[in-house]
Amino acid sequence: MEKSIFTRIMEKEIPARIEYEDDKVIVIHDIAPKANVHLLIIPRKPIPTLMDVAEEDLPLIGHIHQVAQKLAQKLELKGFRLINNCGKEGGQEVFHIHYHLLSGFHE
Ligand code: AMP
Repeated sequence: MEKSIFTRIMEKEIPARIEYEDDKVIVIHDIAPKANVHLLIIPRKPIPTLMDVAEEDLPLIGHIHQVAQKLAQKLELKGFRLINNCGKEGGQEVFHIHYHLLSGFHE
């Protein structure tokens, strides 16, 4: 399978503004932000869509939520949206699972 743009960012083939990384996820700033804060939380495991998440991946999905919490604390966000676009009909463009963390709609 061809490497996704997010895998290429993780492998530092393509530059990105990295906000956070650990052994399971990388968090980058979206290149076309839709809010004052627009981050992408991306697992290193290249799962194509939410529909491909297996039972063994559930701790990873929990970890993503924990990372969202930590980012909100670190960036002192008063609130945020955590969004996953699933499949073409769901508006997904990059088929490597990721969650959009958006904040700052009423600043
Ligand atoms: P989705 O539609 O949920 O698949 O979202 C893909 C997101 O990736 C979009 O919001 C894009 O703006 C963002 N994106 C695409 N390429 C890059 C890149 N090189 N660096 C950062 N964000 C990107």
